Amino acid sequence: MDDVIIIGGSFAGLAGALQLGRARRKVTVLDTGLPRNRFAGHSHGLLGHDHKPPLDILAEARQQLARYPTIRLVNARADSVSGAIDDFSVLTGDGESLATRRLILSYGVVDQMPDVPGFAEGWGTSIVPCPYCDGFEFAGQHWGLVWSGPQSHNYVRLFHDWTDTLTVFAAGHDIPPDIRADLARRKIPVVDGRIIEIAHRGGHNATVKLDTGPNVAVDILFAHPRNKPSASLHESLGLATANTPLGIVLKVDERRETSMPGIYAAGDLATPLMPSVHWTSYTLKTRAWGARERRYLGVLVEAAGIEPASVDPPQSGLHA
Ligand SMILES: Cc1cc2nc3c(=O)[nH]c(=O)nc-3n(C[C@H](O)[C@H](O)[C@H](O)COP(=O)(O)OP(=O)(O)OC[C@H]3O[C@@H](n4cnc5c(N)ncnc54)[C@H](O)[C@@H]3O)c2cc1C
Repeated sequence: MDDVIIIGGSFAGLAGALQLGRARRKVTVLDTGLPRNRFAGHSHGLLGHDHKPPLDILAEARQQLARYPTIRLVNARADSVSGAIDDFSVLTGDGESLATRRLILSYGVVDQMPDVPGFAEGWGTSIVPCPYCDGFEFAGQHWGLVWSGPQSHNYVRLFHDWTDTLTVFAAGHDIPPDIRADLARRKIPVVDGRIIEIAHRGGHNATVKLDTGPNVAVDILFAHPRNKPSASLHESLGLATANTPLGIVLKVDERRETSMPGIYAAGDLATPLMPSVHWTSYTLKTRAWGARERRYLGVLVEAAGIEPASVDPPQSGLHA
Protein backbone atom coordinates (compact mmCIF):
# COMPACT_ATOMS: atom_id res chain seq x y z
CA MET A 1 0.00 0.00 0.00
CA ASP A 2 1.19 3.52 -0.83
CA ASP A 3 1.35 6.31 1.73
CA VAL A 4 0.14 8.74 -0.92
CA ILE A 5 -1.15 8.47 -4.46
CA ILE A 6 -0.89 11.69 -6.43
CA ILE A 7 -3.34 12.05 -9.32
CA GLY A 8 -1.83 14.44 -11.86
CA GLY A 9 1.95 14.49 -12.15
CA SER A 10 2.71 17.94 -13.53
CA PHE A 11 4.07 21.00 -11.70
CA ALA A 12 1.99 20.64 -8.54
CA GLY A 13 1.92 16.84 -8.43
CA LEU A 14 5.65 16.38 -8.98
CA ALA A 15 6.46 19.12 -6.42
CA GLY A 16 4.40 17.12 -3.93
CA ALA A 17 6.08 13.86 -4.89
CA LEU A 18 9.53 15.41 -4.39
CA GLN A 19 8.82 16.44 -0.80
CA LEU A 20 7.11 13.17 0.05
CA GLY A 21 9.92 11.16 -1.56
CA ARG A 22 12.47 13.08 0.45
CA ALA A 23 10.44 12.24 3.55
CA ARG A 24 10.79 8.58 2.44
CA ARG A 25 7.04 8.16 1.94
CA LYS A 26 5.88 5.60 -0.54
CA VAL A 27 4.28 7.58 -3.37
CA THR A 28 2.74 6.68 -6.71
CA VAL A 29 2.15 9.49 -9.21
CA LEU A 30 -0.39 8.87 -11.97
CA ASP A 31 -0.22 11.19 -14.95
CA THR A 32 -1.62 11.51 -18.47
CA GLY A 33 0.98 14.03 -19.68
CA LEU A 34 -1.24 17.00 -20.62
CA PRO A 35 -0.14 20.01 -18.51
CA ARG A 36 -2.19 23.17 -18.97
CA ASN A 37 0.65 25.25 -20.45
CA ARG A 38 1.75 22.66 -23.01
CA PHE A 39 0.65 25.07 -25.77
CA ALA A 40 3.22 27.68 -24.72
CA GLY A 41 6.66 27.70 -26.32
CA HIS A 42 8.28 28.87 -23.10
CA SER A 43 7.35 29.05 -19.44
CA HIS A 44 8.31 32.16 -17.48
CA GLY A 45 8.76 33.15 -13.88
CA LEU A 46 9.80 29.89 -12.26
CA LEU A 47 13.18 30.47 -10.66
CA GLY A 48 15.89 28.38 -12.25
CA HIS A 49 13.66 27.43 -15.18
CA ASP A 50 12.81 30.78 -16.72
CA HIS A 51 12.23 30.78 -20.48
CA LYS A 52 12.31 27.01 -20.85
CA PRO A 53 9.72 24.94 -22.72
CA PRO A 54 7.27 23.68 -20.09
CA LEU A 55 7.61 20.06 -21.15
CA ASP A 56 11.41 20.31 -20.72
CA ILE A 57 10.95 21.54 -17.14
CA LEU A 58 8.70 18.60 -16.38
CA ALA A 59 11.05 16.10 -18.05
CA GLU A 60 13.91 17.43 -15.92
CA ALA A 61 11.74 17.17 -12.79
CA ARG A 62 10.90 13.55 -13.58
CA GLN A 63 14.60 12.79 -14.07
CA GLN A 64 15.42 14.30 -10.69
CA LEU A 65 12.69 12.25 -9.01
CA ALA A 66 14.24 9.05 -10.35
CA ARG A 67 16.80 9.12 -7.51
CA TYR A 68 14.11 8.62 -4.88
CA PRO A 69 13.41 4.92 -4.44
CA THR A 70 9.98 5.37 -2.88
CA ILE A 71 8.54 7.41 -5.77
CA ARG A 72 6.89 5.58 -8.64
CA LEU A 73 5.88 7.61 -11.71
CA VAL A 74 3.22 5.91 -13.80
CA ASN A 75 1.87 7.08 -17.16
CA ALA A 76 -1.75 6.22 -16.55
CA ARG A 77 -5.12 7.85 -15.98
CA ALA A 78 -6.87 7.54 -12.65
CA ASP A 79 -10.38 6.44 -13.54
CA SER A 80 -12.01 6.14 -10.15
CA VAL A 81 -11.38 6.52 -6.45
CA SER A 82 -13.18 4.70 -3.65
CA GLY A 83 -12.73 4.02 0.05
CA ALA A 84 -11.90 6.29 2.97
CA ILE A 85 -8.93 7.68 4.86
CA ASP A 86 -6.21 5.06 5.43
CA ASP A 87 -7.78 2.76 2.84
CA PHE A 88 -8.40 4.41 -0.51
CA SER A 89 -8.41 2.49 -3.73
CA VAL A 90 -7.59 3.99 -7.13
CA LEU A 91 -8.47 2.24 -10.38
CA THR A 92 -6.30 3.20 -13.35
CA GLY A 93 -7.19 3.25 -17.04
CA ASP A 94 -4.89 0.23 -17.43
CA GLY A 95 -7.09 -1.74 -15.06
CA GLU A 96 -4.61 -1.62 -12.15
CA SER A 97 -6.08 -1.26 -8.67
CA LEU A 98 -3.85 0.67 -6.24
CA ALA A 99 -4.26 1.06 -2.49
CA THR A 100 -3.22 4.14 -0.54
CA ARG A 101 -3.67 5.85 2.79
CA ARG A 102 -3.83 9.41 1.47
CA LEU A 103 -4.56 11.06 -1.88
CA ILE A 104 -3.46 14.29 -3.49
CA LEU A 105 -5.58 15.50 -6.41
CA SER A 106 -3.51 17.70 -8.74
CA TYR A 107 -5.10 16.95 -12.08
CA GLY A 108 -5.39 20.61 -13.05
CA VAL A 109 -7.93 22.31 -15.24
CA VAL A 110 -8.65 22.43 -18.97
CA ASP A 111 -9.20 25.76 -20.72
CA GLN A 112 -12.30 25.54 -22.87
CA MET A 113 -11.65 27.14 -26.23
CA PRO A 114 -14.49 29.36 -27.47
CA ASP A 115 -16.00 28.50 -30.80
CA VAL A 116 -14.09 31.25 -32.65
CA PRO A 117 -11.93 30.26 -35.63
CA GLY A 118 -8.28 30.94 -34.86
CA PHE A 119 -8.67 31.06 -31.05
CA ALA A 120 -7.48 27.53 -30.30
CA GLU A 121 -4.75 27.83 -32.95
CA GLY A 122 -3.32 30.94 -31.28
CA TRP A 123 -3.69 29.77 -27.67
CA GLY A 124 -0.31 29.87 -25.90
CA THR A 125 1.44 31.91 -28.61
CA SER A 126 -0.50 34.98 -29.76
CA ILE A 127 -3.39 34.50 -27.31
CA VAL A 128 -2.32 34.10 -23.69
CA PRO A 129 -3.91 34.42 -20.25
CA CYS A 130 -1.26 35.89 -17.96
CA PRO A 131 0.83 39.07 -18.15
CA TYR A 132 3.34 37.75 -15.63
CA CYS A 133 3.91 34.73 -17.86
CA ASP A 134 4.18 36.47 -21.23
CA GLY A 135 3.99 40.25 -20.73
CA PHE A 136 7.71 41.01 -20.53
CA GLU A 137 8.35 39.86 -24.10
CA PHE A 138 5.64 42.24 -25.39
CA ALA A 139 6.29 45.26 -23.15
CA GLY A 140 5.52 48.59 -24.80
CA GLN A 141 3.63 46.94 -27.65
CA HIS A 142 -0.07 46.99 -28.53
CA TRP A 143 -2.02 44.61 -26.29
CA GLY A 144 -5.60 43.43 -26.67
CA LEU A 145 -7.85 42.13 -23.90
CA VAL A 146 -10.92 40.01 -24.56
CA TRP A 147 -13.41 41.00 -21.85
CA SER A 148 -14.65 38.02 -19.84
CA GLY A 149 -16.50 39.74 -16.98
CA PRO A 150 -16.00 42.27 -14.15
CA GLN A 151 -12.68 40.63 -13.23
CA SER A 152 -11.26 41.83 -16.57
CA HIS A 153 -11.14 45.33 -15.09
CA ASN A 154 -8.38 44.14 -12.76
CA TYR A 155 -6.27 42.99 -15.69
CA VAL A 156 -6.61 46.45 -17.26
CA ARG A 157 -5.12 48.00 -14.12
CA LEU A 158 -2.28 45.47 -14.09
CA PHE A 159 -1.41 45.86 -17.74
CA HIS A 160 -0.10 49.43 -17.15
CA ASP A 161 3.05 47.78 -15.76
CA TRP A 162 3.87 46.64 -19.29
CA THR A 163 2.18 48.88 -21.83
CA ASP A 164 0.14 52.04 -22.34
CA THR A 165 -1.35 50.77 -25.58
CA LEU A 166 -4.31 48.54 -24.85
CA THR A 167 -7.51 47.81 -26.74
CA VAL A 168 -10.41 46.12 -24.96
CA PHE A 169 -12.70 43.83 -26.97
CA ALA A 170 -16.12 43.71 -25.32
CA ALA A 171 -16.83 40.36 -27.04
CA GLY A 172 -20.57 40.61 -26.48
CA HIS A 173 -20.26 41.62 -22.79
CA ASP A 174 -22.24 44.49 -21.41
CA ILE A 175 -19.44 46.52 -19.78
CA PRO A 176 -21.03 48.71 -17.08
CA PRO A 177 -20.95 52.52 -17.59
CA ASP A 178 -18.67 53.18 -14.59
CA ILE A 179 -16.07 50.76 -15.95
CA ARG A 180 -16.40 52.25 -19.42
CA ALA A 181 -15.82 55.67 -17.88
CA ASP A 182 -12.69 54.41 -16.15
CA LEU A 183 -11.42 52.90 -19.42
CA ALA A 184 -12.06 56.20 -21.19
CA ARG A 185 -10.17 58.05 -18.45
CA ARG A 186 -7.26 55.68 -19.05
CA LYS A 187 -7.54 56.33 -22.82
CA ILE A 188 -8.27 52.68 -23.51
CA PRO A 189 -10.51 52.15 -26.54
CA VAL A 190 -13.33 49.64 -26.22
CA VAL A 191 -14.27 47.77 -29.38
CA ASP A 192 -17.82 46.45 -29.27
CA GLY A 193 -19.18 43.60 -31.33
CA ARG A 194 -18.73 39.86 -31.48
CA ILE A 195 -15.36 38.36 -32.36
CA ILE A 196 -15.88 36.15 -35.41
CA GLU A 197 -12.29 35.15 -36.15
CA ILE A 198 -8.74 35.68 -34.98
CA ALA A 199 -5.99 35.58 -37.60
CA HIS A 200 -2.30 35.12 -36.78
CA ARG A 201 0.96 35.88 -38.49
CA GLY A 202 3.96 33.67 -37.72
CA GLY A 203 2.74 32.57 -34.32
CA HIS A 204 2.52 36.12 -32.95
CA ASN A 205 0.34 39.16 -33.63
CA ALA A 206 -3.38 38.64 -33.69
CA THR A 207 -5.85 40.33 -35.98
CA VAL A 208 -9.26 40.35 -34.35
CA LYS A 209 -12.11 40.21 -36.84
CA LEU A 210 -15.46 41.52 -35.63
CA ASP A 211 -19.00 41.22 -36.88
CA THR A 212 -19.50 44.97 -36.51
CA GLY A 213 -16.54 46.90 -37.77
CA PRO A 214 -13.01 47.00 -39.12
CA ASN A 215 -10.45 44.40 -38.06
CA VAL A 216 -8.13 45.33 -35.21
CA ALA A 217 -4.51 44.10 -35.16
CA VAL A 218 -2.68 43.72 -31.85
CA ASP A 219 0.77 42.40 -30.96
CA ILE A 220 -0.58 40.06 -28.28
CA LEU A 221 -4.09 39.20 -27.16
CA PHE A 222 -4.99 38.34 -23.56
CA ALA A 223 -8.03 36.15 -22.94
CA HIS A 224 -9.47 34.13 -20.10
CA PRO A 225 -11.71 31.36 -21.39
CA ARG A 226 -13.74 29.37 -18.91
CA ASN A 227 -12.04 26.27 -17.58
CA LYS A 228 -13.08 23.04 -15.96
CA PRO A 229 -11.28 20.42 -13.91
CA SER A 230 -9.40 17.94 -16.11
CA ALA A 231 -11.12 14.96 -14.50
CA SER A 232 -14.36 14.35 -12.66
CA LEU A 233 -13.04 12.28 -9.74
CA HIS A 234 -13.95 15.04 -7.29
CA GLU A 235 -17.56 14.83 -8.51
CA SER A 236 -17.90 11.13 -7.90
CA LEU A 237 -16.30 11.63 -4.48
CA GLY A 238 -18.76 14.45 -3.72
CA LEU A 239 -15.99 16.90 -2.79
CA ALA A 240 -16.98 20.49 -2.03
CA THR A 241 -16.20 23.00 -4.76
CA ALA A 242 -16.21 26.79 -5.05
CA ASN A 243 -17.33 28.86 -8.02
CA THR A 244 -14.93 31.36 -9.54
CA PRO A 245 -15.65 33.70 -12.47
CA LEU A 246 -13.93 31.27 -14.81
CA GLY A 247 -14.87 27.85 -13.47
CA ILE A 248 -14.89 25.79 -10.32
CA VAL A 249 -12.08 24.85 -7.96
CA LEU A 250 -11.94 22.38 -5.12
CA LYS A 251 -12.48 23.82 -1.67
CA VAL A 252 -9.53 23.16 0.64
CA ASP A 253 -8.74 24.19 4.19
CA GLU A 254 -5.52 25.81 5.36
CA ARG A 255 -3.87 22.36 5.34
CA ARG A 256 -4.96 21.93 1.71
CA GLU A 257 -7.32 19.14 2.74
CA THR A 258 -10.54 18.84 0.73
CA SER A 259 -13.95 18.26 2.29
CA MET A 260 -13.12 14.53 2.52
CA PRO A 261 -10.61 13.51 5.21
CA GLY A 262 -7.39 12.15 3.74
CA ILE A 263 -7.83 13.76 0.32
CA TYR A 264 -5.75 16.85 -0.41
CA ALA A 265 -5.75 19.07 -3.50
CA ALA A 266 -3.00 21.17 -5.08
CA GLY A 267 -2.17 23.32 -8.07
CA ASP A 268 -4.67 24.95 -10.42
CA LEU A 269 -7.38 22.52 -9.34
CA ALA A 270 -7.44 24.22 -5.94
CA THR A 271 -6.34 27.75 -6.83
CA PRO A 272 -9.29 30.13 -6.96
CA LEU A 273 -9.43 33.32 -8.94
CA MET A 274 -11.78 35.15 -6.63
CA PRO A 275 -13.72 38.07 -8.08
CA SER A 276 -12.09 40.44 -5.61
CA VAL A 277 -8.61 39.03 -5.95
CA HIS A 278 -6.79 40.26 -9.00
CA TRP A 279 -4.66 38.30 -11.40
CA THR A 280 -1.47 39.04 -9.50
CA SER A 281 -2.41 37.01 -6.50
CA TYR A 282 -3.55 34.19 -8.74
CA THR A 283 -0.25 34.01 -10.58
CA LEU A 284 1.76 34.50 -7.43
CA LYS A 285 -0.06 31.60 -5.85
CA THR A 286 0.45 29.52 -8.93
CA ARG A 287 4.10 30.32 -8.92
CA ALA A 288 4.53 29.53 -5.26
CA TRP A 289 3.95 25.81 -5.68
CA GLY A 290 7.27 24.93 -4.10
CA ALA A 291 6.92 26.78 -0.85
CA ARG A 292 3.21 26.30 -0.47
CA GLU A 293 3.13 22.62 -1.28
CA ARG A 294 6.08 22.05 1.01
CA ARG A 295 4.25 23.66 3.91
CA TYR A 296 1.12 21.62 3.55
CA LEU A 297 2.99 18.43 2.75
CA GLY A 298 4.78 18.79 6.05
CA VAL A 299 1.34 18.82 7.62
CA LEU A 300 0.24 15.91 5.47
CA VAL A 301 3.21 13.82 6.50
CA GLU A 302 2.49 14.55 10.16
CA ALA A 303 -1.25 14.07 9.78
CA ALA A 304 -0.70 10.74 8.11
CA GLY A 305 0.66 9.43 11.40
CA ILE A 306 2.37 6.62 9.57
CA GLU A 307 5.88 5.31 9.63
CA PRO A 308 8.17 6.29 6.77
CA ALA A 309 8.66 3.56 4.19
CA SER A 310 11.43 1.20 5.06
CA VAL A 311 13.79 1.63 2.15
CA ASP A 312 17.44 1.44 1.37
CA PRO A 313 19.04 4.87 0.91
CA PRO A 314 19.80 5.83 -2.68
CA GLN A 315 23.09 4.55 -4.11
CA SER A 316 25.84 7.00 -3.28
CA GLY A 317 26.52 7.56 -7.00
CA LEU A 318 23.08 9.08 -7.30
CA HIS A 319 23.88 11.86 -4.84
CA ALA A 320 25.94 13.80 -7.40
C1 LIG B 1 -1.07 29.26 -22.35
C2 LIG B 1 -0.59 29.19 -20.92
C3 LIG B 1 0.69 29.66 -20.59
C4 LIG B 1 1.13 29.60 -19.28
N1 LIG B 1 2.38 30.07 -18.98
C5 LIG B 1 2.82 30.04 -17.72
C6 LIG B 1 4.12 30.56 -17.39
O1 LIG B 1 4.85 31.05 -18.26
N2 LIG B 1 4.51 30.54 -16.10
C7 LIG B 1 3.70 30.04 -15.09
O2 LIG B 1 4.10 30.04 -13.92
N3 LIG B 1 2.48 29.50 -15.38
C8 LIG B 1 2.03 29.51 -16.66
N4 LIG B 1 0.78 29.01 -16.96
C9 LIG B 1 -0.01 28.42 -15.86
C10 LIG B 1 0.43 26.95 -15.67
O3 LIG B 1 0.28 26.24 -16.86
C11 LIG B 1 -0.41 26.27 -14.59
O4 LIG B 1 -0.51 27.09 -13.46
C12 LIG B 1 0.22 24.92 -14.20
O5 LIG B 1 0.32 24.08 -15.33
C13 LIG B 1 -0.63 24.24 -13.12
O6 LIG B 1 0.01 23.07 -12.74
P1 LIG B 1 -0.85 21.86 -12.18
O7 LIG B 1 0.17 20.81 -11.83
O8 LIG B 1 -1.81 22.31 -11.17
O9 LIG B 1 -1.76 21.37 -13.42
P2 LIG B 1 -1.34 20.92 -14.89
O10 LIG B 1 0.01 21.45 -15.23
O11 LIG B 1 -2.46 21.28 -15.78
O12 LIG B 1 -1.21 19.34 -14.77
C14 LIG B 1 -2.26 18.47 -14.50
C15 LIG B 1 -1.78 17.07 -14.89
O13 LIG B 1 -2.76 16.10 -14.50
C16 LIG B 1 -2.90 15.16 -15.54
N5 LIG B 1 -4.21 14.51 -15.41
C17 LIG B 1 -5.44 15.00 -15.70
N6 LIG B 1 -6.39 14.10 -15.40
C18 LIG B 1 -5.76 13.01 -14.93
C19 LIG B 1 -6.20 11.73 -14.46
N7 LIG B 1 -7.51 11.40 -14.38
N8 LIG B 1 -5.27 10.83 -14.08
C20 LIG B 1 -3.95 11.14 -14.12
N9 LIG B 1 -3.47 12.32 -14.55
C21 LIG B 1 -4.37 13.25 -14.95
C22 LIG B 1 -2.73 15.98 -16.82
O14 LIG B 1 -2.37 15.20 -17.93
C23 LIG B 1 -1.58 16.92 -16.39
O15 LIG B 1 -0.31 16.36 -16.66
C24 LIG B 1 0.31 29.06 -18.26
C25 LIG B 1 -0.98 28.58 -18.60
C26 LIG B 1 -1.42 28.64 -19.90
C27 LIG B 1 -2.79 28.14 -20.23
